Amino acid sequence: MLKSNYHTHTFRCGHASGTDEEYVIEALGEGITELGFSDHIMLPGFSDPGIRGEYSQFDDYVTSINQLKVKYKDRINILLGFEAEAFQIYFPYYKELIETGVIDYLILGNHCQMNESRTITDYFGKITTASELYRYRDLAISALQTGIFSCFAHPDYFMSSIEKPDKDCLNVMREIIQASIALDVPLEVNVAGIRNGLKKIGKTERWIYPTTEFFKIASEMNAKCILGLDAHAPEQISDEDANEKAILFARRMGLNLLEKLDIKRAHV
Ligand SMILES: [Zn+2]
Ligand SMILES: [Zn+2]
Repeated sequence: MLKSNYHTHTFRCGHASGTDEEYVIEALGEGITELGFSDHIMLPGFSDPGIRGEYSQFDDYVTSINQLKVKYKDRINILLGFEAEAFQIYFPYYKELIETGVIDYLILGNHCQMNESRTITDYFGKITTASELYRYRDLAISALQTGIFSCFAHPDYFMSSIEKPDKDCLNVMREIIQASIALDVPLEVNVAGIRNGLKKIGKTERWIYPTTEFFKIASEMNAKCILGLDAHAPEQISDEDANEKAILFARRMGLNLLEKLDIKRAHV
């Protein structure tokens, strides 16, 4: 039984469905007591249609979730956040959102890299070289070090198109997990990867993530972990089959699973 979920998207990203309130109603039905909205972050000066909402939708998102917080305050604790990439050019913006209290939290989703002229230069779901792998690691750790991320979503995203981890992959896994422990940022077991079923990666059939290799090390190192639904439709919150598989995976791997996140707020 899930008590919380901090990885919830909304229709604004362009690839999710339902109304914001429908996600709350599903969560109530599941017995979830803390629900965090973490839509793909809307960025001033950067348009990314189909991936994230326009910055012009920011106010509507904030207003809508804040209204739901009030409306359901006696039944469920609702948090307002974003899933954000390690776009270093936007770190000051992320910090401002947290420090001004406009949002409650951020989760790190290290999908891709952006350069200083706001161009995406690497997509980490399609890693083919060791240098990309190490860029994933460096960016992830730089984001964890900011102290503003409350959780690292699908931390093994870099394994999406890699059949079997080689020495470099295993190094990256260890270093990311080590940083997550040192900086106290829990690692997410991403339920969407489970919900999407087995995929053929090379000759192997497995979930794209979570990967057993990554979470075996996380378990050995006793890293804090948390389940994240990565819901892109209200009904995904109550997908019992996927949720149950995620809980069994965590149990089988012997993970140190948190029931709730410790939210990292402003340092001011
Ligand atoms: Zn998404
Ligand atoms: Zn997500």
